[in-house]
Amino acid sequence: MLCLTLTESTIDEDLACVERNRKYIDLAELRVDFLKTEELGKAIDFPVHAKLPVILTYRRVCDGGKCALSEKQRLSTLFSLAQGKFSYVDIEDDVKKSELKFKSQEGEKKIDFEAQMKSRNIKIIHSFHDFEGVPADIFGKISKLASRGGIPKVAVTPNNMLDVITLFRIQEELKEIKDKIIIGMGPWGVCTRILYKKCGSMLSFCTEVPSAIGQLSPKEMKELYHADKVDEQTHVYGIIGNPVLHTSSPLIHNPGFAAIHYNAVYVPFMVDSVRAFFKLAEMIHIYGFSVTIPHKRNVQPYLGKITREVKQIGSCNTVVRIQNMWKGINTDYYGFLAPISELIANGKIKSALVIGAGGASRAIIWALRNHAVKVIVVNRTFEHAKSIADETMSTCDSLDHIGSYSGKVDLVVQTTSVGMVPDEKEDAAKGYLFSGSEIAYDLVYRPKETVFLRRAEKAGCKTIEGSRMLLEQGKLQFEAFTGYHYPYWVKPEL
Ligand code: NAP
Repeated sequence: MLCLTLTESTIDEDLACVERNRKYIDLAELRVDFLKTEELGKAIDFPVHAKLPVILTYRRVCDGGKCALSEKQRLSTLFSLAQGKFSYVDIEDDVKKSELKFKSQEGEKKIDFEAQMKSRNIKIIHSFHDFEGVPADIFGKISKLASRGGIPKVAVTPNNMLDVITLFRIQEELKEIKDKIIIGMGPWGVCTRILYKKCGSMLSFCTEVPSAIGQLSPKEMKELYHADKVDEQTHVYGIIGNPVLHTSSPLIHNPGFAAIHYNAVYVPFMVDSVRAFFKLAEMIHIYGFSVTIPHKRNVQPYLGKITREVKQIGSCNTVVRIQNMWKGINTDYYGFLAPISELIANGKIKSALVIGAGGASRAIIWALRNHAVKVIVVNRTFEHAKSIADETMSTCDSLDHIGSYSGKVDLVVQTTSVGMVPDEKEDAAKGYLFSGSEIAYDLVYRPKETVFLRRAEKAGCKTIEGSRMLLEQGKLQFEAFTGYHYPYWVKPEL
């Protein structure tokens, strides 16, 4: 189930939020601690108006909420609101059974809150929060919460790949606890939110306007990741990197899978230890993954087979499982060539100036050199340019001398991260004057049109945006993952 967390300040705004997202969600969590004081009373009728199952939550400040009342006042308000037609009520793990006894209106007999909820078929969620990490005894913690008779919920903060593996182990370790809620918060938790079913969680939370890193919107969860449709048969793919959440690759692969009716999902994984990720890949049966900074070299010791390009470039951006073996390929190489291969074949590109000498530059220079294009590489750190140039039989220079190559080449390729958001005002080729006859190709894809490309276009040059290469290399990955061509009718908005 996908649960929309509601954090507006009025009931009407919360209801409007439910309406906007109704088609994506199965239930909602009403966070009454976000409501204005004068709105609190109206919360009791919320489930009737919302017309879907609702979790009632009144979160304390120490658990990331806004309720600063005394514990007695908070629980008593929660008790009154729970008289509404809610489906679940969230109670924090440290609230004692004795604190959940309230005086009846007649004031004589005490009412046992948990018993009353049970008699009205309202389920209690016993929740535990950790905003710093994942407790070492998390399995024990969940078992203890479950022993109270309700639904155990743990919202914890994984900080590395091993923490993520721990969350994915919950399903295997605690199979007997059928209904449970597991949430990995923060950037490391994103894969656990999307693959919540693989962690054994009965639901995953989403918010209309994500306000914290790692939160996802209902639209993303439902339409991009189809998170609620993941099942035992779903083939898991993904991208590993650090950082990785900025990636546009899910926008290529997930719509592609859906278009060919392939039960698969493509998920971003923050990865510090490649070794640990390969363990997770075996555990949850990952079939293939893209690789980005800083792991394009780190994955190589784990590969049973590599292509000629990976061997030559020393960089692998795609890994696929083939007959119980991991195979490494490099789709940046062919993805880069795709928009210019005809121009190379027609002899329109015979020389190129490559700005930058990092991982992407290495793939590009090899692709150009293997097609007999003469390359001059310029870089901020001259030694890096020299090392690539020596390896690829190219010429090199310092970035400071870029101006001396103005108008002397057929193609200028910008391969540094300069000009990328949030520094989109930066010009990666300061000092280079476009003549108008050369082709300008920028690898940066966010923003779509960089200062470098704008300047080239103004001078009359043909320009190629980084998003073209991104899409082309993604299509090749899709073929490696699925064995099918990328569906031509799908046009990802990158
Ligand atoms: P990388 O290995 O870290 O290389 C970074 C390069 O940028 C190095 O040459 C570095 O110079 C240079 N650089 C960084 N900051 C600079 C600055 N302030 N001034 C001048 N030069 C600077 O990164 P990468 O993997 O090659 O990726 C580079 C860019 O290509 C990224 O923006 C990435 O998103 C993009 N990319 C796009 C695609 C696509 O499909 N469109 C594919 C791959 C990569 P030093 O040697 O002096 O440090």
